[in-house]
Amino acid sequence: MSNNTGIVKDCRYLRHGTEFSHPETPQRLASIYEMLDNPDMGWKFIGIDAREATREEIERVHLPAYIDRIAATAGEKLFMLDPDTVTTAESYDVARLAAGGVINAIDGVVSGHADNAFALVRPPGHHAQAAVAAGFCIFNNIAIGARDAIARHGMERVLIVDWDLHHGNGTQEAFYEDPQVLYLSTHQSPGYPGTGAMSELGRGPGLGYTLNIPLRGGAGDALYVRLFRDILSPVAQAFRPEIILVSAGFDTYVGDPLGEMRVTPEGFACLTRVLLNLAEATCGGRLALVLEGGYHIQGLTKCVRAVLLELLGETCATEERLASLANEADAKADILIGRARQQFEPYWPVL
Ligand SMILES: [Zn+2]
Repeated sequence: MSNNTGIVKDCRYLRHGTEFSHPETPQRLASIYEMLDNPDMGWKFIGIDAREATREEIERVHLPAYIDRIAATAGEKLFMLDPDTVTTAESYDVARLAAGGVINAIDGVVSGHADNAFALVRPPGHHAQAAVAAGFCIFNNIAIGARDAIARHGMERVLIVDWDLHHGNGTQEAFYEDPQVLYLSTHQSPGYPGTGAMSELGRGPGLGYTLNIPLRGGAGDALYVRLFRDILSPVAQAFRPEIILVSAGFDTYVGDPLGEMRVTPEGFACLTRVLLNLAEATCGGRLALVLEGGYHIQGLTKCVRAVLLELLGETCATEERLASLANEADAKADILIGRARQQFEPYWPVL
């Protein structure tokens, strides 16, 4: 089965972080774009335009004074927002372009212009909070996209899956009291930014709509596929999202310099297949991925390629393959899944 897969790809995303050496370098996207320029790849995708998110769209997640603070960095050669997060002259424009690119990717999927989409944008977003830049993130692209899906497309249930190495503390904060957005994160623990314990479950009406699965270093394809099948899938089917958004970080790649996980390109394709199946079962296939981390440039490029081919349906991880991979998870996986079931079951009896 083949899909129309949309991609957001725009060389203006290379214009942030140009003045210094940093793991979140423009070279990350340059390498992905180069892979897409290869004649065997580029023509397969539907181009989705980037655009700058408007002030109103960004204010659905960030405080006005914070946006002003970022705007004031425009034209400054270097400005340190936090020890990890530094702007260059065009960063404000590029950050707005990243958030707007995500909104357009969601629009593309909702309108049916594309069956699914991957916003290949930077800077990443999932650590950015209402008034705080952190962890290489300026505006929270996926949170701005989710809020737009609710405000403009009238959605009432948005699922955000965050498979980045790090906990998406900014995304969690944005929706901590909001039952319209179910946030599920897998992340290395202990690790940056230190949040994301299993006991962080949301608050007030949002209680039970934040699900965190912290993992020890060393987790590989089998454990991730197992978690997606045994925990994410039943919860998502019970939640019945109207769209599935993914904070797609590739710093869980086996060779990533910032992490200790062991996910391979095939593993990412398998996770994508679980999400495609879930989207098919719950929301007419609406699935939009947003690039977050991933700092091994060649590995990142290979993993994005594997995900894109799975989104197209050119490769197709079969049910047998997913089941056999999940079965390779060791006994520690059983203990982890048992703990997650116990923690989440009061809110998701299906577990
Ligand atoms: Zn990350």
